[in-house]
Amino acid sequence: MDKSVNNMATALFGGTFNPIHFGHLTIASELADLLQVDKIQLIPCAFPPHRGQPQASAEQRLAMLELAINRQPKLTANPIELHRDAPSYSIDTVTLLREQIGDQQPLFFCIGLDSLVTLPSWHRWQELLDYCHIVLASRPGTKLPAAGPLIDWIAENNCEDLSIMQQQPAGSVYFCNLSMLDISSTDIRDKLAKGQDIDFLTPTKVVEYIQQHHLYE
Ligand code: ATP
Repeated sequence: MDKSVNNMATALFGGTFNPIHFGHLTIASELADLLQVDKIQLIPCAFPPHRGQPQASAEQRLAMLELAINRQPKLTANPIELHRDAPSYSIDTVTLLREQIGDQQPLFFCIGLDSLVTLPSWHRWQELLDYCHIVLASRPGTKLPAAGPLIDWIAENNCEDLSIMQQQPAGSVYFCNLSMLDISSTDIRDKLAKGQDIDFLTPTKVVEYIQQHHLYE
């Protein structure tokens, strides 16, 4: 594939990152390789529409994200959702990104399978493919429902050839199987609440930040 074309693509990976962990970092780095982009943008959700406000503020979650990606050349943080009032809808984020990059450039919005399962409850979810492709990464312990609007939508929009998607700005859904690390932010918060250590679940700088700010105690 012509690398000059690939370099024009933009890739996003959104999450609450409460806190960021090695599962996020591994999957994001592998997605950057798969999509052949120089960098993948990690976008912390400021005001998650589908859950209560996280214990760590959006600024703290962004700070941990920046500490975590410090030495990772393929990852960058984009605080775009921190600049908007609540709630942080993905459709608003991809609309804004599309305005910034123009009509032609492929825009890949990457999410894990557990997020995909909730997609039909997202604000204007069926419009997302007007602005971006959706790349789905498998996640341990998550399965798709057997039938329903989500399955119909996947059948209608699924594409198995990434090189075709690289030539189009938006409109397709692509499934990929990447490293499956069985780590979650919930698990990290639970461990911290019980006073257990989280040393091998997230980078040391994040562990230190959590300790300094007495998060998740
Ligand atoms: P929580 O436990 O609080 O729900 P989380 O660990 O699922 O958090 P999020 O910030 O909600 O993390 O996830 C952001 C994105 O990263 C989602 O699309 C999610 O599917 C994906 N993701 C999180 N952890 C992993 C993992 N271990 N492997 C693959 N994808 C992951």
